[in-house]
Amino acid sequence: MTGQNDVPRASYDLHLHTCWSYDATNTVEELLETASEVGVRRIAITDHHLVDGIPEAIEAAANYPDILLVPGVELNVTTSVGSVHVLALGLTLRAIDALEPVWDEYRQWQIDLGSATSAGVCALGFDYSDAQRQELLESYRPARTISVQGATPTSNKMRRAFFIERGFVSDEDEYRELMSAAGEAVPRPPYPNGDRVLPAVKEQGALLVIAHPPAYFGGADRNRMDMLREELLLDGVECAHRRKVPHELTPIYRAWCEEHDLISTGGSDLHWPEDVSEGIGLHIGAEEWWPEIEARLPSEALINA
Ligand SMILES: [Zn+2]
Ligand SMILES: [Zn+2]
Repeated sequence: MTGQNDVPRASYDLHLHTCWSYDATNTVEELLETASEVGVRRIAITDHHLVDGIPEAIEAAANYPDILLVPGVELNVTTSVGSVHVLALGLTLRAIDALEPVWDEYRQWQIDLGSATSAGVCALGFDYSDAQRQELLESYRPARTISVQGATPTSNKMRRAFFIERGFVSDEDEYRELMSAAGEAVPRPPYPNGDRVLPAVKEQGALLVIAHPPAYFGGADRNRMDMLREELLLDGVECAHRRKVPHELTPIYRAWCEEHDLISTGGSDLHWPEDVSEGIGLHIGAEEWWPEIEARLPSEALINA
């Protein structure tokens, strides 16, 4: 990856996780406070799969009238090329209500994935029972999130540390092998189908933006890009990402967006508090992208606009 240290902050960050994602512990206050301090004026909350944290985010944003808040979500969907992460930006409260069946499906999927992971690791002879997983969740997730979302999967980072501490594995490589063997022992449930989920979200007015696209686009393979643009009903591309879009691909994605009248977004994808002050707004997305994004977001969705 090229010189990330030289990157100036953008005035917007449209990919942020809070503790309402099972693999994140940022609070929305930390994000708003830091954004306000360092001059990131527009942020999107895009927790994994669920919008349970949006009411809290809207409430907290009332104390930061200088920050425009875009309610969103990051959905992993099954597609013709495997699992793809799609950001949905600009969810109104009406959209959130109307999409209840989608949230129900993801809520259940998270529970099923958590159980399958525990069962797979247990099948290999290691004690990662549902009770152990619950204990691990309680060690880093706020109780209010567990009470709403139940026995979700754990974050990779926390699970790896737990497995190392318990002596299941001794390093990152062994951890990866163990997780892969566990997935063979007990297959994990597939992500909800993009063909069903994405049209429903789009119909509610939210913009569909493919997240950290290099893996899905095969770098910048035009056939893949064109195919996914149609299949995923894309409104935009996360052309800039703090870690997962190499800088040389950003102008290529941007040119393709202009060609197809798509928006270009940028985000940091922060999960952990220790990264927030350094990482918020840290992507190479251009300032001129923002007015294009703002013009297409449903205005009723924007908080503090
Ligand atoms: Zn993602
Ligand atoms: Zn993310």
